[in-house]
This record gives sequence, C-alpha cells and structure tokens, in this order.
Amino acid sequence: LNLADWEPTLDDPIIVAYIRERVGEEGLPVAQLIKEKQPVQGVDILEIMSDQKASAVRKILYKLEDARVAEYMKDTDKTGWETFVWRLTLNEVKYQINKERHKMLKDFEHLLELEKENSFYQCENGHERVIFEDGLALEFRCPECGQPLNFVENEDRVGELENVIEKLKSLVF
Ligand SMILES: [Zn+2]
Repeated sequence: LNLADWEPTLDDPIIVAYIRERVGEEGLPVAQLIKEKQPVQGVDILEIMSDQKASAVRKILYKLEDARVAEYMKDTDKTGWETFVWRLTLNEVKYQINKERHKMLKDFEHLLELEKENSFYQCENGHERVIFEDGLALEFRCPECGQPLNFVENEDRVGELENVIEKLKSLVF
C-alpha cells in the first residue's frame, strides 16, 4: 500500500494498529465516537462516555491529540465559557506513519552500508558476529565460547536488506 494514494479511515488495520500502539486499546472507541459525531464538543464526549471517569476520557482525548489522530479547536462563547470541539485528523496520521517509515528506511540503509563496508567473523556456535577490527582485538576468539572466529559470508543478509529497502521505498511518499 503506497501511502500517497491512501485515504485513511478508522476501519483501516494500519490506523487501528497505530491507535493501539500510540494511545492504547481504549483510544479506539473514543476515536470511533468522534468520527460519528464530529465536530463534537468535549463535554458531549464526556457525557456519552459517562460510564468512565471524566479524567480517564480526557486523558485518552489528549493522547489521541498527541498522536495526531484527533484535534480540538478551542472556542469561547459570549459568557466566557470555553468549549473544545473535536475532530478526527487521520490525514495527519498518514504523515506520521510516512515519517516513521522514512526513519525505518534510513535505519535499514545504514545497516546495509555497514554490511557492505565490513567483513564479518563468527564462531561455529553462531554467537555474535563481529567486524574485522573487533575480531582482531579479540584475537579471533569468540568472547562467549572461546571458539575461533571465522569469516562468514553476508550476501544473504545484504540481499534481505536490499529487499526490505526496496519494499519500504515503494511504501513511502
Ligand atoms: Zn561463540
């Protein structure tokens, strides 16, 4: 799924996973409620969800805002009474997810660079792989089991990383 053409909705598994991770399971019904009633006042949300503590619902609302799932506009009426009007901002989430994928892409590209620029050594027991310089410092003995560290191919790893990078590149905009 390329994010550029994606119009996120609350039914989307990516959005659901994002809300679960950033806000928690309890964020889902609140987001659903905002979707159904938007633009909806904070007091109305608290009223509808009055089976829960107001402080708990407020906390969820601000977590949703923090995760860019929803936003509020503050309004003050003639009597000086402040109201908060909530809306979903799932397009913002799209940009957040895109940003995260770009960061992942960068991390993988960095890993690929490390794999390409180094040769690796490992014991026959499959303990931690080390680069040449570290192997030298260890006199090519595994610090965990004392077995010799041998040169190991990393073509497979390079190939896997290249695949992941290619896939991620097709997913970002
Ligand atoms: Zn070992």
